[in-house]
Amino acid sequence: MKPASHHITACKRCRALICWALTTANGRRQPIDAAPDEKGNLAVTSGVDGLLYVRSLTKTHPEPRPGEWQAMPHHATCTAPPPRRSSTQRRSSGVRLAPWQVRL
Ligand SMILES: [Zn+2]
Repeated sequence: MKPASHHITACKRCRALICWALTTANGRRQPIDAAPDEKGNLAVTSGVDGLLYVRSLTKTHPEPRPGEWQAMPHHATCTAPPPRRSSTQRRSSGVRLAPWQVRL
């Protein structure tokens, strides 16, 4: 299994191909690598509503269920530097923050 092509988008920070999935634990959006990775600790499935859902694989149940595939959280593979959250580091050089930096 792998994500449908309409789920695949590019990370705004490093341009890698990712998918947005909702965590089954709390419904939060989480970026995952678009390419399935058997070393990933996430199990991804396509829900009946057409959305992708992700759950964490545990040591006691490391195998994905039928219909799921394993993927790596994109946070683990993103090559872009983490956003700066501290306002004290902001410089008054006229450089505007990109939209994704404002949202984070
Ligand atoms: Zn990235």
